[in-house]
Amino acid sequence: MTSKPLSSAEIRQAYIEFFLEKGHTFVPSSSLVPGGDQTLLFTNAGMVQFKDIFLGTDKPGYQRATNSQKCMRVAGKHNDLEEVGQDDTHHTFFEMLGNWSFGDYYKKEAIQWAWELLTDVWKLPKERVYATCFKDEHGEIPIDEEAAQEWQAQPGMDPSHILFFGRKDNFWEMADTGPSGPCSEIHFDRGQKYCDMQAVPGHVCQVNGDCQRFIELWNLVFIQYNRIDSSHLEPLPATHVDTGMGFDRMVSVLQDVDSNYKTDLFKPLLDRVQELTGDSDEEKTANFTPYRVIADHARAAAFLIADGVVPGNMGRNYVCRMIIRRAARFGGKIGLHDPFLAPVAEKVIENYGEFYPELVRNRATILTNLTGEEERFQRTLESGLSRLEILLDKLQLSGETLLSGEAAFDLYATYGLPFEITRDIAREGHLDVDEDSFRSAMQEHRLASGAGEAFGELGGEDVEIYRKLLDRLQAEGKLGIDGVAYNPYEWLGMEGHLLAMVQDGEVVQQAQPGDLVEVLLPRTGFYIEAGGQVSDTGLIRSSGGEDANQSDQWVIRVTEMRQPAAGVIVHIGEVESGTPRVSDLALARVDAQRRHDIMRNHTATHLLHAELRSELGEHARQAGSLVASDRLRFDFTHPQAITADELVRIEAGVNAWALDNYRLNIKEKPLQQALDEGATALFGEKYAQDVRTITIGGDEPFSYELCGGTHVEETGDIGLFLITSEGSTAAGIRRIEAVTGRGAYDMVQRRSSALKNAAGLLDTSSEDVPTKTRELLDNLSLARKKLSNIRQELAEIRMLRYMDRVPVVNDIPVLTAVLEDTDADTLRAMTDRYRQRNRTGVAVLASVGGEGRPIVVAAVSEDLVKRGLHAGELVKYVAGQLGGGGGGRPTLAQAGGKDASKLEEALASVPGWVESNLRDE
Ligand SMILES: [Zn+2]
Ligand SMILES: [Zn+2]
Repeated sequence: MTSKPLSSAEIRQAYIEFFLEKGHTFVPSSSLVPGGDQTLLFTNAGMVQFKDIFLGTDKPGYQRATNSQKCMRVAGKHNDLEEVGQDDTHHTFFEMLGNWSFGDYYKKEAIQWAWELLTDVWKLPKERVYATCFKDEHGEIPIDEEAAQEWQAQPGMDPSHILFFGRKDNFWEMADTGPSGPCSEIHFDRGQKYCDMQAVPGHVCQVNGDCQRFIELWNLVFIQYNRIDSSHLEPLPATHVDTGMGFDRMVSVLQDVDSNYKTDLFKPLLDRVQELTGDSDEEKTANFTPYRVIADHARAAAFLIADGVVPGNMGRNYVCRMIIRRAARFGGKIGLHDPFLAPVAEKVIENYGEFYPELVRNRATILTNLTGEEERFQRTLESGLSRLEILLDKLQLSGETLLSGEAAFDLYATYGLPFEITRDIAREGHLDVDEDSFRSAMQEHRLASGAGEAFGELGGEDVEIYRKLLDRLQAEGKLGIDGVAYNPYEWLGMEGHLLAMVQDGEVVQQAQPGDLVEVLLPRTGFYIEAGGQVSDTGLIRSSGGEDANQSDQWVIRVTEMRQPAAGVIVHIGEVESGTPRVSDLALARVDAQRRHDIMRNHTATHLLHAELRSELGEHARQAGSLVASDRLRFDFTHPQAITADELVRIEAGVNAWALDNYRLNIKEKPLQQALDEGATALFGEKYAQDVRTITIGGDEPFSYELCGGTHVEETGDIGLFLITSEGSTAAGIRRIEAVTGRGAYDMVQRRSSALKNAAGLLDTSSEDVPTKTRELLDNLSLARKKLSNIRQELAEIRMLRYMDRVPVVNDIPVLTAVLEDTDADTLRAMTDRYRQRNRTGVAVLASVGGEGRPIVVAAVSEDLVKRGLHAGELVKYVAGQLGGGGGGRPTLAQAGGKDASKLEEALASVPGWVESNLRDE
């Protein structure tokens, strides 16, 4: 490795091209947000996007694939956050290079190619390469001799460098059950100088040892078993290869540097931070942790935002917020107090933009979100930090070491201090934070705010029954190689034999009225929920066709569609009448009217998306959508609320495009071609090799999306488009809801008849309703003002009457009275009147306010305060009997109660209280 080292971009490219030459298909990285997988917070390994293939629920159009996958490990089980910045190798974001065989080549080729790439193409010295193979320490699973022999067969491989390890290092499992198999790791000896434990007595450098000398470069996983339970493995019918190479580390080896941060992946970022601080090289070296954390977190945040994950309070959005804030705090440690992450992220975009064009496309969104989040954090950072310091001081004084999770949650809720930062700071002072109780406080808060459960664990569905069903139907010739034929674009009605029914997870031959069944037909046009568009509904009935001798007529009402395994599509519905039997001739019909409503809403969604981008800017990107029959809902990224004017223009723009009656241009083409042509792909969606594209706008299209949904033929079919609401769902995410076609007509109808009714009530024309309403409201507020004056006068008159005959207790006038229809202000005003008339005395006035809750005001003259009477105590005494409480000054106090029925009784107890609390002069 004496010649000029390869750049990171060249290394990534070389890997991909090497496997392209070996017949692999390049599959672009899927989003950091796992598509269709609600159980996983982030894509955390190269295999996430291929999981369905291994589980058998997805069949790709290729058997060999190669990729460079974006991954995040920052939360949950695989969490490297705390190591980041402390060492040279841990990151929140990283890339995983991989090559994959789905039932195609196996150990021989995988090992041969790995050896060839490392030692022949990249010229790693063969004598420094080691390979590990699996040998079960329990002796239950067979030793992987096959892999060991392949390694031995490689030219120049030192046989003593082939080592065996047990389950922890060399056996891979997707989960507690499911695909699993032995793996073979490739390790590299970086040389004696990399050993960081030379001073430790008895230390021996070794593969899978403690020091930095031997490092793992590549893991080749051979999937050959299906784990049934903890003690049973059964061989899979087809074997697979899944390999993973940590890209940052490979670059550090090929560029011969002792830290990932010294590679060209990170150096430009660190240099930019140094420019911003003006630090000397010595200062930079002394502060290596803040520098590294900032570089790592800026890279991760840029990739997250490019995939649509903006800073927020929950789940993924919380992680994005947390890493930005954590980077900002580390920035503060090296004197960066103004927002500084945007210029660092610019370097990320420069560095990675060519391979990951989403960074370039979302440049503005990335930069504004970073700066915005830093600014938000700055506003509360100081007060949050000083509050935390007080809490930690107290903790230390009390001799404890663990800050409660509630306190940490309070710091987050009140000052925006993420848990991870609180923990960083606590640990800097050799204290810690209770993470479990923080999680439960946060969970409680989530549930209380209606946000639902936090992310759970990965789970899989039992697809075995459907796979067996498919195998049988294919063997019997009832289904072709692709399984159930699916064409929601052309078929609304289908005839065919009922192939199978599944009820409560079991295959059944017939069903009864009221049963909920899954029905398998040879082909279907019922749309299966995808891309936000809901499933079709409709009917399957017995067909009177050529098999008219069918004994029974039956109907199944289809309410949901599902694809439980590749090639298997089921109609879920309830038997309404009759006894459907397997092999009956059936007629299936999609509810066409509902489907047309859905198609109008789907095409309108595309128009809305295009209109938002032209009205608000390119950053307004889809963040989620629902296309139902009665409405459409569209979430998109936009930093602030939409003004009323903008909303009017957006609605008008969509309607104008609808009226222009553009014909939709729908074409299938290769994914890469569509992306190169500028089609809008959605993050979180998985795309096949060939994609369906929808273009709208004639010669100068304004909308070009990848979409598998169903659409109208011409935009005019949409009819009227009306926005029904606009709001926010999370920081930086807006939501628009709208109706079209029949839904819009219904809404106009409802509104216009409501307006007519209002006009009738107001005895005026529809046009004059606003003026007339304004007049009425003015009159109403005038009348309310008058009423309040009258009430006050009435209260005064009553008060005068009471004051004429005030009872006397021990020579002191003690007035108790209920003044109906008065508020607290008036009660206080009346006690003033009383004190003007009586230089000495006690008054307790009460009224019953809203919801039947009593209000009590007590007044005590100065001279009686000196004799031991206290208005605050008095009012507490009275309100206590009413199930309430309150207090105030010695001369004037106020309280509220709950139970007005006890009011008379409570007031009658006042003279007794005065008597027993009064001291002699
Ligand atoms: Zn060592
Ligand atoms: Zn669409």
